[in-house]
Amino acid sequence: FEQRVLRERALPAQTEDGENVYLRANLALDEEIELAKRSGAEGVGLYRTEFMYMNRQEPPSEEEHYRMGKALLQRWAPYPVRVRTFDLGSDKQCEALGLNEAEANPAMGVRSMRLALLHREVLLDQLRGLLRAALHGPLQIMLPLISGLEELSAVRGAFNEARAQLAETGLPHASEVHVGVMIEVPAAAIAADLIAERVDFMSIGTNDLIQYALAIDRDNDDVNYLYEPLHPAILRLIKTVCDAGRAHDIPVSLCGEMASDPRYTWVLVGLGLRELSMQAAAIPVIKNIIRSSSIDEMEALAAQVLECRTATEARRLVVRKMNERF
Ligand code: PEP
Ligand code: MG
Repeated sequence: FEQRVLRERALPAQTEDGENVYLRANLALDEEIELAKRSGAEGVGLYRTEFMYMNRQEPPSEEEHYRMGKALLQRWAPYPVRVRTFDLGSDKQCEALGLNEAEANPAMGVRSMRLALLHREVLLDQLRGLLRAALHGPLQIMLPLISGLEELSAVRGAFNEARAQLAETGLPHASEVHVGVMIEVPAAAIAADLIAERVDFMSIGTNDLIQYALAIDRDNDDVNYLYEPLHPAILRLIKTVCDAGRAHDIPVSLCGEMASDPRYTWVLVGLGLRELSMQAAAIPVIKNIIRSSSIDEMEALAAQVLECRTATEARRLVVRKMNERF
């Protein structure tokens, strides 16, 4: 089995019946790129930029963002690279943004896009750098923790301002860049059809989506046992987003940890996902599963799992099926 996994690394993740599932890498550090390339990733589905802001006094400059984006695109050509705007909050140490005040409830506080809109100049630096980098390849910009259309249009305003600033300085930049959102707030998943009309792609962030939907702090060990990707409500949320993407003809990806777990591959593809972004190390095994499965059997399992009344029931079903087949 291991031999086969290694042999097939460089082949596309195509099902037995000929459907492509794109497997991309989640990255945060340049050191991870080599492993991700060797694992057979077809581009980057989530580049976390938070590390660029940590352990320093000032936020990164436009130039730094430009160089980072350009280098990533060159390294990954011809594949797409999806860069997420900074997703920081008071749960992370970040002097550059003056984040040292403890919030009672960081997950529900000034984090992520809310923080970015509050530090508009810092966001504009990043957007200008990325818009310039996008001249060098298929760079996509992903916005974290979007809850609905008002927030999206606030960010669109920032994009327009960044473009106007670039036009003024005369620096060359891409006129068309794919902009998409992470779906990680339950409200955004439920109303994904409204969001899908206005974006180029959606990517489901199950780490946060599960935390918010099941009301369990992902950083609190005492409630970790309730963290349940196969909870019927989570499966319905994922399906809702996939259906909205399909109805509006935009790609839907999933980039939470759930994508890295081979036990869930059938369910996720069966629910309609055709792009999964994960830890590089997981790619070969998941690619192998997809190459030895058909869409029909994955859809059949997903349909059965959607009928389960509890996560325990769903888990039993999934484990039994996976053991039977692999
Ligand atoms: C997620 O929430 O699923 C996600 C991918 O983002 P992060 O883990 O960085 O919050
Ligand atoms: Mg998240």
